[in-house]
Amino acid sequence: MESQADIIVIGSGINGLSAAALLAKKGRRVIVLESADIPGGAVRTAEVTLPGFRHDLFAMNLGLFAGGPVNAAIGADLARHGFDLVPSNKPFCSLFPDGTSVGVQTDAEATRASIAAVSPDDVAAWDRLGAQLGDWAPYLIGLLGADLPSWKAVKVLRKAHKALGMDGVYELTKLALASTRSFANANFVSPKMRALLASWGMHLDFAPDVPGGALFSYLETLGGQMFGMVIGKGGADTLIKALVGVINECGGTVQCSARVSEILVEGGKAVGVRLESGEVIRASHAVISNVNPSLMPDMLPATVAADRKVARAREFEPGLATMMIHLALDELPQWIDPKAGEFNYVHIGPYLDNMAMTYAEAAAGTLPTSPTLVVGQPTVTDPSRAPEGKHTLWVQVRVLPLEIADGRQWDDVREEYADYVMGILETYAPGLGGQVLGRHVLSPADLQRYNANLVKGDSLGGSHHPAQFFFLRPVPGWGRHRTPVDRLFICGAGTWPGGGVGGTSGAMVADIVG
Ligand SMILES: Cc1cc2nc3c(=O)[nH]c(=O)nc-3n(C[C@H](O)[C@H](O)[C@H](O)COP(=O)(O)OP(=O)(O)OC[C@H]3O[C@@H](n4cnc5c(N)ncnc54)[C@H](O)[C@@H]3O)c2cc1C
Repeated sequence: MESQADIIVIGSGINGLSAAALLAKKGRRVIVLESADIPGGAVRTAEVTLPGFRHDLFAMNLGLFAGGPVNAAIGADLARHGFDLVPSNKPFCSLFPDGTSVGVQTDAEATRASIAAVSPDDVAAWDRLGAQLGDWAPYLIGLLGADLPSWKAVKVLRKAHKALGMDGVYELTKLALASTRSFANANFVSPKMRALLASWGMHLDFAPDVPGGALFSYLETLGGQMFGMVIGKGGADTLIKALVGVINECGGTVQCSARVSEILVEGGKAVGVRLESGEVIRASHAVISNVNPSLMPDMLPATVAADRKVARAREFEPGLATMMIHLALDELPQWIDPKAGEFNYVHIGPYLDNMAMTYAEAAAGTLPTSPTLVVGQPTVTDPSRAPEGKHTLWVQVRVLPLEIADGRQWDDVREEYADYVMGILETYAPGLGGQVLGRHVLSPADLQRYNANLVKGDSLGGSHHPAQFFFLRPVPGWGRHRTPVDRLFICGAGTWPGGGVGGTSGAMVADIVG
């Protein structure tokens, strides 16, 4: 069987769907092919514990999308298709074993008070960094929204130079290259404030000592006060449903349970795909891949994949792995500092040195003794996700081994390690175990089962360390969302500007493909 489209998109992650929706709006005949049974990739909401408890299995924080180019272009259409955001003015806090916490709120005075309670000497530094973000944000956001390398990026840098002077450009460059530890030490005296910053680095694969970690930590930590957080009303999947709705109403198709096994190349050009079922679909204009770059060579004909420029995509490395523990709760955790119960995220590192050790243990293949925990409390701001008076909670365990060195498999240790994590949490929220009505654990192996892009349970779609970031993402020769194969484009977390539910790389590809 053979059919035809203008543009084929392989994979229905946030970027594949964003590209498809923008292109369908332009009148292109688009077909999205997805191997899973439902679209969305790492954005998926499901009742995995008990009926009525809607869990964001992977991503919950939609801040990148809210401020990104897709929402700017088609936000009104998405709203028509049911997409709505719930804002939080208390996005995150860090909780410490001595019963104290530091919380970041959009109310600057409240944040200052929280900092002053643990470290009065750091309030001035917080204010200084906040003011600096105000000055730098237009250029940092401008760079993240520009393809790399590109004239658009050069123009942003020129503007930064004009506004901030050479000193400012040096400071920005230093921020982009610094580790979280050096940045945190240079700015804060309190180990708690340093941990507040370093926790965000651990959301990506920036252990405190990895160069390049400071930029993300700085943007997220200070950005919390500037922008707060937003989550999807009723679940993150409402965004996916809305994108599919826009694609369908413009005549496009999203076909699930349709794994692409081969990208067809003729005369050096991508001309279509073959599905696992044997069906062939031809593309008259372009093929856009939302597949992890490291998996791409195996989808190309052997003669094409033999080319070094193509084959080097195999070298694109994953970050370390993640576990998700989803809980249905009778009531919210009774945190040792009750203030923590007001925030969407509770970070438990607890301290920067613990995070550094955790990363080293995970990289060496051992299960971390003091894992870095991100606890998500969606029902604090969106009670519609659970039956009245009840709550959903997730615990993201950052970072874990891709492979366990002693030879055990994740399927064997999943529940045991989740019990260990719950034991640690019990010391921060006594009685938590007794409030659990249902539990569903996703190990790194489960993450990959849901979505092949999450290689070995890497939640990031590829490490963000400097050797594969900025203009080097994913690998040399595959930058600017092009591949070495003509008419084959690539978007997704493995491309610039990296992971997250932003849709920016999808929008960039839609611009290129037109
Ligand atoms: C546990 C977890 C928590 C996260 N939390 C957040 C968060 O709160 N906020 C945030 O901004 N980001 C978060 N992220 C990151 C974010 O979700 C991802 O970076 C982003 O969703 C990736 O989008 P993508 O466009 O790369 O596509 P993906 O989500 O990777 O989707 C790609 C799709 O392609 C499909 N596919 C792959 N190969 C084929 C093939 N051969 N044929 C057909 N289909 C194929 C896959 O099945 C998948 O559906 C989280 C990620 C994880 C895993």
